[in-house]
Amino acid sequence: MSKIKIAVSWNSSCGGCDESIVDIEEKILDVAEKAEFVFWPCAMDFKYSDLDKFEEKEIAVALINGGIQNSEQYHVVKKLRNKSELIVAFGSCACFGGIPSLANLTSVKEIFNVSYINSPTVVNPEGVWPKSTASPDGYDLSLPKMFSSVYKLDDVIKVDYFLPGCPPTAELIIKALEAILSGNLPERGSVLAPDTSLCRSCNRNDTKPENILIERVKRIHQIEADPEICFLAQDVLCMGPVSRDGCDYPCIRGNMPCTGCMGPVSSTDQGAEMVGLLGAILSGDSEELADPAGTFYRYSVAASFLGRKRKEN
Ligand code: SF4
Ligand code: SF4
Repeated sequence: MSKIKIAVSWNSSCGGCDESIVDIEEKILDVAEKAEFVFWPCAMDFKYSDLDKFEEKEIAVALINGGIQNSEQYHVVKKLRNKSELIVAFGSCACFGGIPSLANLTSVKEIFNVSYINSPTVVNPEGVWPKSTASPDGYDLSLPKMFSSVYKLDDVIKVDYFLPGCPPTAELIIKALEAILSGNLPERGSVLAPDTSLCRSCNRNDTKPENILIERVKRIHQIEADPEICFLAQDVLCMGPVSRDGCDYPCIRGNMPCTGCMGPVSSTDQGAEMVGLLGAILSGDSEELADPAGTFYRYSVAASFLGRKRKEN
């Protein structure tokens, strides 16, 4: 029996999602028995032109991580959509924009300013600014155009399945790959993770008070956190109530509150849900809420009500 073809591709992401596929350890051998990786630029020396040799829908599944932030990424994911039967938005950046989509709260000009001019570690006395075209030694070179926003994958192409996580856990990846290889997949458009909030499986849920009242929000470094008690009962913000389950709560087990990397439950707006919750449980003013967007929308600006003004032509 011929092996099915799998493609893996990355966009605006950190490489962690690519690495998480290798983290399934010996299970990768089971995958290799039934499938071949025909395109995986982060792991092997593939060129984007390698995609041209495939017929329409010849690739069984493309696992695409990262949000879309430039014209090259846009071009490649469009091509992968054409060449693949199934597209999986792999990881929270592809599903919701992820941390790179915090860029949507500022401008390309300001991002370049910080990166190339103003950072304390940058030495650029002539103020050289990135250009999209140049002709060194008579060769015309061009760079991809950076978009004014980071887009989640399904803003750009049709997505068949969503696998959230920063990165997705080995357990969720194995389940997803087993479903793909066996053809035993849920309805298209599904999220391949539980549709419940993290609190439901958290081992501290029993200690979460029925009625929470926070006088003053504390940050995790300001207290000696009790490793058994719900963070909200210790006046520390925890995104568990508004985040999707499925990560096996490594942060909570490490005595750190959830920052929400699994994204929202169902199609809710994660930050708006948290703001709503806080409206009900905060009693005092809190000078510590210095970065509400980064706290409530750390992984999901591109999927939120925020930063929607800028759209590419
Ligand atoms: S708020 Fe956080 S610590 Fe409390 S039960 Fe939910 S996930 Fe666990
Ligand atoms: S506990 Fe929260 S931040 Fe940590 S992995 Fe799970 S969803 Fe992500």
